[in-house]
Amino acid sequence: MRNFEAFRALISAPKRVVITTHHKPDADALGSSLALANFLKKKYHDVQVITSSDYPRFLHWMQGNEEVIVYDAATNHEQVEGLVNEADIIFCLDFSSLARTQDLEPLLRAAQATIVQIDHHLEPEEFADFVLWNNKASATCELVYDLFDMLDDSELIDKGIAECIYAGILTDTGSFRHPTTSARVHIIVAELIRAGVEPARIHKLIYDNYSENRLRFLGYALSEKLVVLPEYRTAYISITSEELQRFRYSTGDTEGFVNFALSIEGIVVGAVFIEREDAIKISFRSIGDFAVNVLAREHFEGGGHKNAAGGKSNLSIEDTVQKFINLLPAHQEELQNVVP
Ligand code: 5GP
Ligand code: MN
Repeated sequence: MRNFEAFRALISAPKRVVITTHHKPDADALGSSLALANFLKKKYHDVQVITSSDYPRFLHWMQGNEEVIVYDAATNHEQVEGLVNEADIIFCLDFSSLARTQDLEPLLRAAQATIVQIDHHLEPEEFADFVLWNNKASATCELVYDLFDMLDDSELIDKGIAECIYAGILTDTGSFRHPTTSARVHIIVAELIRAGVEPARIHKLIYDNYSENRLRFLGYALSEKLVVLPEYRTAYISITSEELQRFRYSTGDTEGFVNFALSIEGIVVGAVFIEREDAIKISFRSIGDFAVNVLAREHFEGGGHKNAAGGKSNLSIEDTVQKFINLLPAHQEELQNVVP
Protein backbone atom coordinates (compact mmCIF):
# COMPACT_ATOMS: atom_id res chain seq x y z
CA MET A 1 0.00 0.00 0.00
CA ARG A 2 1.38 3.38 -0.99
CA ASN A 3 1.55 5.86 1.92
CA PHE A 4 1.05 3.02 4.36
CA GLU A 5 2.27 5.09 7.30
CA ALA A 6 -0.40 7.70 6.57
CA PHE A 7 -2.98 4.92 6.56
CA ARG A 8 -1.63 3.58 9.85
CA ALA A 9 -1.91 7.09 11.32
CA LEU A 10 -5.44 7.47 9.96
CA ILE A 11 -6.73 4.41 11.81
CA SER A 12 -4.65 4.95 14.94
CA ALA A 13 -7.53 6.83 16.61
CA PRO A 14 -11.20 5.73 16.66
CA LYS A 15 -13.12 6.72 13.53
CA ARG A 16 -16.58 6.30 12.05
CA VAL A 17 -16.08 3.51 9.56
CA VAL A 18 -18.31 2.10 6.84
CA ILE A 19 -17.32 -1.14 5.13
CA THR A 20 -18.96 -2.18 1.90
CA THR A 21 -18.48 -4.80 -0.79
CA HIS A 22 -19.88 -5.90 -4.14
CA HIS A 23 -23.52 -6.67 -4.95
CA LYS A 24 -24.61 -10.19 -4.02
CA PRO A 25 -21.66 -10.73 -1.68
CA ASP A 26 -19.95 -14.10 -1.77
CA ALA A 27 -17.93 -15.65 1.07
CA ASP A 28 -14.83 -13.60 0.23
CA ALA A 29 -16.76 -10.34 0.00
CA LEU A 30 -18.69 -10.86 3.23
CA GLY A 31 -15.84 -12.66 5.02
CA SER A 32 -13.33 -9.90 4.31
CA SER A 33 -15.87 -7.22 5.31
CA LEU A 34 -16.77 -8.89 8.60
CA ALA A 35 -13.16 -9.85 9.42
CA LEU A 36 -12.18 -6.20 9.00
CA ALA A 37 -15.24 -4.98 10.92
CA ASN A 38 -14.55 -7.30 13.86
CA PHE A 39 -10.90 -6.27 13.84
CA LEU A 40 -11.59 -2.51 13.71
CA LYS A 41 -14.14 -2.82 16.52
CA LYS A 42 -11.41 -4.33 18.67
CA LYS A 43 -9.47 -1.14 17.95
CA TYR A 44 -12.40 0.97 19.19
CA HIS A 45 -13.66 2.20 15.83
CA ASP A 46 -17.37 2.69 15.25
CA VAL A 47 -17.96 0.26 12.38
CA GLN A 48 -20.92 -0.45 10.10
CA VAL A 49 -20.96 -3.03 7.30
CA ILE A 50 -23.40 -2.14 4.50
CA THR A 51 -24.17 -4.37 1.51
CA SER A 52 -26.15 -3.45 -1.60
CA SER A 53 -28.09 -6.72 -1.53
CA ASP A 54 -28.78 -9.80 0.52
CA TYR A 55 -26.42 -12.76 0.41
CA PRO A 56 -26.72 -16.54 0.76
CA ARG A 57 -28.03 -18.00 3.99
CA PHE A 58 -24.97 -20.26 4.18
CA LEU A 59 -22.93 -17.16 5.10
CA HIS A 60 -25.13 -16.04 7.97
CA TRP A 61 -23.02 -17.85 10.59
CA MET A 62 -20.20 -15.30 10.28
CA GLN A 63 -19.43 -13.21 13.35
CA GLY A 64 -21.07 -9.78 13.01
CA ASN A 65 -23.62 -10.94 10.38
CA GLU A 66 -26.60 -9.78 12.44
CA GLU A 67 -25.33 -6.18 12.42
CA VAL A 68 -24.94 -5.91 8.64
CA ILE A 69 -27.28 -3.39 7.02
CA VAL A 70 -28.64 -4.54 3.67
CA TYR A 71 -29.40 -1.39 1.69
CA ASP A 72 -32.94 -1.11 0.45
CA ALA A 73 -33.95 2.16 -1.24
CA ALA A 74 -37.54 1.74 -0.06
CA THR A 75 -36.91 1.15 3.63
CA ASN A 76 -33.53 2.42 4.84
CA HIS A 77 -32.24 4.95 2.31
CA GLU A 78 -31.94 7.78 4.84
CA GLN A 79 -30.21 5.66 7.44
CA VAL A 80 -27.65 4.40 4.91
CA GLU A 81 -27.15 7.82 3.33
CA GLY A 82 -26.52 9.24 6.81
CA LEU A 83 -23.98 6.56 7.67
CA VAL A 84 -22.14 7.00 4.36
CA ASN A 85 -22.15 10.80 4.58
CA GLU A 86 -20.96 10.86 8.17
CA ALA A 87 -18.27 8.20 7.79
CA ASP A 88 -14.64 9.25 8.22
CA ILE A 89 -13.42 6.19 6.35
CA ILE A 90 -15.15 3.94 3.82
CA PHE A 91 -13.53 0.59 3.08
CA CYS A 92 -14.39 -0.91 -0.31
CA LEU A 93 -13.66 -4.61 -0.32
CA ASP A 94 -13.46 -7.23 -3.04
CA PHE A 95 -14.42 -5.12 -6.05
CA SER A 96 -12.45 -3.12 -8.58
CA SER A 97 -15.15 -0.84 -9.95
CA LEU A 98 -17.72 1.17 -7.94
CA ALA A 99 -20.47 0.08 -10.31
CA ARG A 100 -20.32 -3.32 -8.63
CA THR A 101 -21.96 -1.80 -5.54
CA GLN A 102 -25.11 -1.32 -7.63
CA ASP A 103 -27.54 1.06 -5.86
CA LEU A 104 -24.90 2.17 -3.34
CA GLU A 105 -22.70 3.60 -6.10
CA PRO A 106 -24.14 7.17 -6.12
CA LEU A 107 -23.96 7.38 -2.32
CA LEU A 108 -20.34 6.22 -2.33
CA ARG A 109 -19.38 8.63 -5.12
CA ALA A 110 -20.88 11.54 -3.16
CA ALA A 111 -19.18 10.62 0.12
CA GLN A 112 -16.56 12.90 1.67
CA ALA A 113 -14.84 10.09 3.59
CA THR A 114 -11.35 8.77 2.98
CA ILE A 115 -11.80 5.74 0.73
CA VAL A 116 -9.72 2.61 1.25
CA GLN A 117 -9.86 -0.13 -1.37
CA ILE A 118 -8.74 -3.70 -0.69
CA ASP A 119 -9.11 -5.98 -3.68
CA HIS A 120 -7.66 -8.64 -5.97
CA HIS A 121 -9.61 -8.07 -9.19
CA LEU A 122 -8.03 -6.99 -12.46
CA GLU A 123 -8.09 -3.45 -13.84
CA PRO A 124 -8.99 -1.48 -10.72
CA GLU A 125 -10.87 1.75 -11.28
CA GLU A 126 -9.16 4.64 -9.47
CA PHE A 127 -11.57 5.80 -6.81
CA ALA A 128 -9.70 5.31 -3.53
CA ASP A 129 -7.27 7.33 -1.40
CA PHE A 130 -5.52 4.22 -0.10
CA VAL A 131 -5.27 1.02 -2.11
CA LEU A 132 -4.21 -2.45 -1.05
CA TRP A 133 -4.45 -4.32 -4.32
CA ASN A 134 -2.84 -7.50 -5.57
CA ASN A 135 -4.36 -9.52 -8.37
CA LYS A 136 -2.11 -12.46 -7.43
CA ALA A 137 -3.78 -12.72 -4.03
CA SER A 138 -6.06 -15.74 -3.71
CA ALA A 139 -8.79 -13.71 -2.04
CA THR A 140 -9.52 -10.30 -0.58
CA CYS A 141 -9.48 -12.16 2.74
CA GLU A 142 -5.80 -12.94 2.14
CA LEU A 143 -5.15 -9.20 1.70
CA VAL A 144 -7.09 -8.38 4.86
CA TYR A 145 -4.91 -10.89 6.70
CA ASP A 146 -1.83 -9.18 5.18
CA LEU A 147 -3.16 -5.81 6.35
CA PHE A 148 -3.48 -7.01 9.96
CA ASP A 149 0.06 -8.33 9.66
CA MET A 150 1.36 -5.03 8.22
CA LEU A 151 -0.28 -3.22 11.15
CA ASP A 152 1.58 -5.59 13.55
CA ASP A 153 -1.81 -6.61 14.92
CA SER A 154 -2.03 -10.29 13.94
CA GLU A 155 -2.57 -11.18 17.59
CA LEU A 156 -6.01 -9.52 17.39
CA ILE A 157 -7.14 -12.30 15.03
CA ASP A 158 -9.46 -14.32 17.26
CA LYS A 159 -11.56 -17.31 16.27
CA GLY A 160 -14.44 -15.22 14.87
CA ILE A 161 -12.15 -13.13 12.68
CA ALA A 162 -10.14 -16.17 11.62
CA GLU A 163 -13.31 -18.00 10.52
CA CYS A 164 -14.35 -15.09 8.29
CA ILE A 165 -10.91 -14.97 6.64
CA TYR A 166 -10.79 -18.74 6.26
CA ALA A 167 -14.20 -18.78 4.54
CA GLY A 168 -13.08 -16.27 1.90
CA ILE A 169 -9.84 -18.06 1.13
CA LEU A 170 -11.58 -21.45 1.10
CA THR A 171 -14.17 -20.43 -1.45
CA ASP A 172 -12.08 -18.12 -3.67
CA THR A 173 -9.42 -20.85 -4.07
CA GLY A 174 -12.13 -23.40 -4.92
CA SER A 175 -11.25 -25.35 -1.77
CA PHE A 176 -7.51 -24.88 -2.22
CA ARG A 177 -7.23 -26.04 -5.81
CA HIS A 178 -7.11 -22.96 -8.07
CA PRO A 179 -3.63 -21.83 -9.23
CA THR A 180 -3.81 -18.99 -6.67
CA THR A 181 -3.34 -21.58 -3.90
CA SER A 182 0.20 -20.54 -3.00
CA ALA A 183 2.45 -21.77 -0.22
CA ARG A 184 1.59 -18.52 1.53
CA VAL A 185 -2.12 -19.37 1.41
CA HIS A 186 -1.41 -22.57 3.32
CA ILE A 187 0.82 -20.75 5.80
CA ILE A 188 -1.96 -18.23 6.45
CA VAL A 189 -4.48 -21.04 6.82
CA ALA A 190 -2.18 -22.75 9.33
CA GLU A 191 -2.21 -19.54 11.38
CA LEU A 192 -6.00 -19.33 11.11
CA ILE A 193 -6.33 -22.90 12.40
CA ARG A 194 -3.99 -21.96 15.24
CA ALA A 195 -6.36 -19.05 15.98
CA GLY A 196 -9.23 -21.49 16.40
CA VAL A 197 -10.70 -22.29 12.96
CA GLU A 198 -12.12 -25.80 12.68
CA PRO A 199 -11.94 -26.52 8.92
CA ALA A 200 -14.55 -29.30 8.97
CA ARG A 201 -17.09 -26.99 10.63
CA ILE A 202 -16.61 -24.19 8.08
CA HIS A 203 -16.73 -26.59 5.11
CA LYS A 204 -19.97 -28.05 6.44
CA LEU A 205 -21.49 -24.59 7.04
CA ILE A 206 -20.65 -23.42 3.52
CA TYR A 207 -20.91 -26.47 1.30
CA ASP A 208 -23.26 -28.87 3.08
CA ASN A 209 -25.92 -26.52 4.27
CA TYR A 210 -28.36 -26.30 1.35
CA SER A 211 -32.09 -26.70 1.34
CA GLU A 212 -33.69 -29.83 -0.14
CA ASN A 213 -35.10 -27.56 -2.87
CA ARG A 214 -31.64 -26.45 -3.89
CA LEU A 215 -30.41 -30.01 -4.28
CA ARG A 216 -33.43 -30.95 -6.42
CA PHE A 217 -32.92 -27.76 -8.42
CA LEU A 218 -29.30 -28.78 -9.07
CA GLY A 219 -30.47 -32.24 -10.13
CA TYR A 220 -32.93 -30.67 -12.57
CA ALA A 221 -30.33 -28.23 -13.93
CA LEU A 222 -27.86 -31.06 -14.57
CA SER A 223 -30.32 -33.51 -16.09
CA GLU A 224 -32.55 -31.13 -18.06
CA LYS A 225 -30.66 -27.90 -18.66
CA LEU A 226 -27.01 -28.76 -19.23
CA VAL A 227 -25.90 -28.27 -22.83
CA VAL A 228 -22.53 -29.63 -23.98
CA LEU A 229 -20.83 -28.38 -27.15
CA PRO A 230 -17.85 -30.73 -27.56
CA GLU A 231 -16.64 -28.98 -30.75
CA TYR A 232 -16.08 -25.84 -28.67
CA ARG A 233 -15.15 -27.68 -25.45
CA THR A 234 -17.92 -25.67 -23.82
CA ALA A 235 -20.77 -26.59 -21.49
CA TYR A 236 -23.48 -24.29 -20.18
CA ILE A 237 -26.67 -24.19 -18.14
CA SER A 238 -29.41 -21.60 -18.57
CA ILE A 239 -32.12 -21.03 -15.98
CA THR A 240 -35.30 -19.04 -16.56
CA SER A 241 -37.10 -16.99 -13.93
CA GLU A 242 -40.00 -19.47 -14.12
CA GLU A 243 -37.59 -22.25 -13.13
CA LEU A 244 -36.20 -20.15 -10.27
CA GLN A 245 -39.72 -19.74 -8.96
CA ARG A 246 -40.62 -23.38 -9.48
CA PHE A 247 -37.70 -24.46 -7.30
CA ARG A 248 -38.36 -21.65 -4.79
CA TYR A 249 -34.98 -20.11 -5.45
CA SER A 250 -33.25 -18.21 -2.71
CA THR A 251 -30.02 -16.23 -3.02
CA GLY A 252 -27.01 -18.51 -3.41
CA ASP A 253 -28.92 -21.54 -4.71
CA THR A 254 -27.24 -21.43 -8.13
CA GLU A 255 -23.77 -20.88 -6.70
CA GLY A 256 -21.48 -23.69 -7.84
CA PHE A 257 -23.66 -24.75 -10.80
CA VAL A 258 -21.04 -23.44 -13.21
CA ASN A 259 -18.39 -25.72 -11.73
CA PHE A 260 -20.40 -28.78 -12.77
CA ALA A 261 -20.27 -27.61 -16.38
CA LEU A 262 -16.51 -27.38 -16.08
CA SER A 263 -16.15 -30.78 -14.40
CA ILE A 264 -16.79 -32.67 -17.66
CA GLU A 265 -13.74 -34.25 -19.27
CA GLY A 266 -12.35 -32.11 -22.08
CA ILE A 267 -14.50 -29.07 -21.28
CA VAL A 268 -12.53 -25.83 -20.91
CA VAL A 269 -15.32 -23.23 -20.74
CA GLY A 270 -18.34 -23.39 -18.46
CA ALA A 271 -21.15 -20.85 -18.34
CA VAL A 272 -24.35 -20.32 -16.40
CA PHE A 273 -27.09 -17.91 -17.51
CA ILE A 274 -29.69 -16.86 -14.96
CA GLU A 275 -32.78 -14.82 -15.80
CA ARG A 276 -32.94 -12.31 -12.92
CA GLU A 277 -35.60 -9.58 -12.65
CA ASP A 278 -33.41 -6.80 -14.07
CA ALA A 279 -31.09 -8.62 -16.47
CA ILE A 280 -29.54 -11.94 -17.43
CA LYS A 281 -26.68 -12.63 -15.02
CA ILE A 282 -23.87 -14.72 -16.46
CA SER A 283 -21.08 -16.66 -14.75
CA PHE A 284 -18.11 -17.89 -16.73
CA ARG A 285 -15.37 -20.32 -15.74
CA SER A 286 -12.45 -21.65 -17.78
CA ILE A 287 -9.28 -23.62 -17.42
CA GLY A 288 -5.80 -22.97 -18.79
CA ASP A 289 -5.10 -19.92 -20.90
CA PHE A 290 -8.60 -19.27 -22.19
CA ALA A 291 -9.51 -15.88 -20.69
CA VAL A 292 -13.22 -15.64 -19.89
CA ASN A 293 -12.80 -12.17 -18.36
CA VAL A 294 -12.02 -10.85 -21.87
CA LEU A 295 -15.17 -12.49 -23.20
CA ALA A 296 -17.21 -11.03 -20.32
CA ARG A 297 -15.74 -7.57 -20.74
CA GLU A 298 -16.05 -7.35 -24.52
CA HIS A 299 -19.50 -8.85 -24.90
CA PHE A 300 -21.36 -8.94 -21.58
CA GLU A 301 -20.61 -5.69 -19.67
CA GLY A 302 -18.57 -7.60 -17.13
CA GLY A 303 -15.11 -8.77 -16.24
CA GLY A 304 -13.29 -10.66 -13.52
CA HIS A 305 -10.35 -13.03 -13.50
CA LYS A 306 -8.89 -15.04 -16.38
CA ASN A 307 -10.56 -18.26 -15.24
CA ALA A 308 -13.58 -16.86 -13.33
CA ALA A 309 -15.61 -13.98 -14.65
CA GLY A 310 -19.13 -12.70 -14.91
CA GLY A 311 -21.31 -10.24 -16.72
CA LYS A 312 -24.85 -9.41 -17.70
CA SER A 313 -27.10 -8.94 -20.70
CA ASN A 314 -30.33 -7.09 -21.36
CA LEU A 315 -31.36 -9.43 -24.18
CA SER A 316 -33.82 -12.25 -23.52
CA ILE A 317 -32.31 -15.40 -22.03
CA GLU A 318 -32.59 -17.23 -25.39
CA ASP A 319 -30.90 -14.38 -27.25
CA THR A 320 -28.19 -14.08 -24.62
CA VAL A 321 -27.36 -17.78 -24.91
CA GLN A 322 -27.42 -17.50 -28.71
CA LYS A 323 -25.08 -14.51 -28.59
CA PHE A 324 -22.68 -16.58 -26.49
CA ILE A 325 -22.86 -19.54 -28.88
CA ASN A 326 -22.27 -17.24 -31.85
CA LEU A 327 -19.02 -16.05 -30.27
CA LEU A 328 -17.55 -19.54 -30.00
CA PRO A 329 -16.58 -20.32 -33.65
CA ALA A 330 -14.11 -17.42 -33.66
CA HIS A 331 -12.37 -19.06 -30.68
CA GLN A 332 -12.59 -22.66 -31.87
CA GLU A 333 -8.90 -23.13 -32.60
CA GLU A 334 -7.88 -21.44 -29.36
CA LEU A 335 -10.32 -23.64 -27.44
CA GLN A 336 -9.05 -26.80 -29.09
CA ASN A 337 -5.49 -25.91 -28.07
CA VAL A 338 -6.14 -25.30 -24.38
CA VAL A 339 -4.17 -27.64 -22.17
CA PRO A 340 -5.28 -27.99 -18.56
P1 5GP B 1 -19.45 -15.22 -10.21
O1 5GP B 1 -19.55 -16.07 -11.43
O2 5GP B 1 -19.03 -16.04 -9.02
O3 5GP B 1 -20.63 -14.36 -9.98
O4 5GP B 1 -18.26 -14.20 -10.46
C1 5GP B 1 -16.97 -14.65 -10.71
C2 5GP B 1 -16.05 -13.47 -10.80
O5 5GP B 1 -16.40 -12.71 -11.94
C3 5GP B 1 -16.16 -12.50 -9.64
O6 5GP B 1 -15.20 -12.78 -8.68
C4 5GP B 1 -15.90 -11.17 -10.29
O7 5GP B 1 -14.51 -10.97 -10.40
C5 5GP B 1 -16.37 -11.33 -11.69
N1 5GP B 1 -17.68 -10.77 -11.97
C6 5GP B 1 -18.88 -11.36 -11.80
N2 5GP B 1 -19.88 -10.56 -12.23
C7 5GP B 1 -19.30 -9.44 -12.70
C8 5GP B 1 -19.81 -8.24 -13.30
O8 5GP B 1 -21.00 -8.03 -13.49
N3 5GP B 1 -18.87 -7.29 -13.63
C9 5GP B 1 -17.53 -7.48 -13.44
N4 5GP B 1 -16.68 -6.52 -13.81
N5 5GP B 1 -17.04 -8.60 -12.91
C10 5GP B 1 -17.90 -9.58 -12.53
MN1 MN C 1 -12.81 -12.30 -3.99
